[in-house]
Amino acid sequence: MEEKVKIGLEVHCQITSLKSKLFCSCPSDYRGKPPNTVVCPVCLGLPGSLPVLNWRAVELAARAALALNCKVSKRTLFMRKNYFYPDLPKNFQISQYDRAGGAPIGSDGHVTFMVEKQRKTVRIRRVHLEEDPGKLAYKGTIDTSPYTLVDYNRAGVALLEIVTEPDLSSPREARAFLQKLRSILEHIEVFDGSLEGAMRCDANISLEGGSRVEIKNISSFKDVEKALNFEIVRQRELLKKGGKVRSETRHWDEARGVTFSLRVKEEEQDYRYFPEPDLTPIELSDELLEKLRREMPELPDARKERLMRQYGLPEYDAEVLTSDRRMADFFEEAVRLGGKPKAVANWLMGDVLQVLYSLGQELPSSKLTPAYLAELTRLVETGEISIKIAKKVLWETMKTGMAPSAVVKEKGWKRLADEAELRRIVETVFAENPKAVEDALRDPKAAHFLVGKVMEKTRGMADPELTYRLVSQRLEKLREGKT
Ligand SMILES: [Zn+2]
Repeated sequence: MEEKVKIGLEVHCQITSLKSKLFCSCPSDYRGKPPNTVVCPVCLGLPGSLPVLNWRAVELAARAALALNCKVSKRTLFMRKNYFYPDLPKNFQISQYDRAGGAPIGSDGHVTFMVEKQRKTVRIRRVHLEEDPGKLAYKGTIDTSPYTLVDYNRAGVALLEIVTEPDLSSPREARAFLQKLRSILEHIEVFDGSLEGAMRCDANISLEGGSRVEIKNISSFKDVEKALNFEIVRQRELLKKGGKVRSETRHWDEARGVTFSLRVKEEEQDYRYFPEPDLTPIELSDELLEKLRREMPELPDARKERLMRQYGLPEYDAEVLTSDRRMADFFEEAVRLGGKPKAVANWLMGDVLQVLYSLGQELPSSKLTPAYLAELTRLVETGEISIKIAKKVLWETMKTGMAPSAVVKEKGWKRLADEAELRRIVETVFAENPKAVEDALRDPKAAHFLVGKVMEKTRGMADPELTYRLVSQRLEKLREGKT
């Protein structure tokens, strides 16, 4: 049963590279601060206070709009979006609007990304700039908590709202799109996605024959996929039973892994948008736009092409690496420090990701450094350790922060390739396993057992090729002696 699914996303990204909030001089870095300590009359919406626009936020928003292939409005203004909710101290949010004489900073863009090796393009309806509301805290979950606490530290932080057309057709695509969006915004130095709550997402989803449902409060890529999968199943079951999918807003409960109905969705007219009278319209000159274009940092797609050209990487590797700015940065640094490009790429995309996942870590905060990864690839390349041992070394390094060469030394994991020493071990193994030797003399295939015994004795450190050669030579000698 494969009915058509339409998904659109509304993504909120804080402009984390800004020092101060959007309309006041409070620091925008509110994380880890005691509640309601990073506030002032402006972001608390106290009577008589007036907003002052942080112009750098406008420039960065315009840069983001350009990076998302949008048309940038040369004249745009802020609007009041009126609604009553405890996270909003003024009872309105200063935002932008594409109607009632308003214009978002960017519109009609697109983003291309890869999903399951297919290229997919999603249209961007608009990009606009607005202030973040405060943060509500509940005891337990929103629907059962006996009270609500509010922290205004986040109120007034500059936020980009990026709205897509409903061009996505699966939860997996939604996740891949968000990954690409994050990489673009990180490459242009607008935002750092590793900060908690810096990127949040609402999703709307409809199945053929049903109404549009909006899901709020999704805070991670993984959860976007989960929440959408949950909704598809819920709506499909409902439609199958002849029920109707109501147009409504549902809340994603991360802990329980379900969505539940919160309220019937507001209509746009309920927000009574009107121009913000305390701020003048924003004019973006041609010179400024030209300057923003000129100063645009390298975007992921351009970087991908460069990685292929400069390091001879296959397209797939370059795509995976540039889908995460931190991974691409790590890669280039490790290569600069002497790692072979293809080897570094393989480690990063394979074992490193696996170990990160197992340890529940992220690359930038992990104990692996580009220098360590370069060193690890060198140890393998020079034959000092085998690939098998290198994997164990990686684990140790990522667990303890010890340099790979130090791990090898401490654990005694150096490949045993000293011929004389290995020959002595082979002789011991032959002496200890006379039956196996008899078998191997009759059937050459049985020699593998003896090789295995040598490996066992050296805890896997013996050079496999050399071991095999020494075992074969010894068997050959015994055969000659017998005839
Ligand atoms: Zn403030």
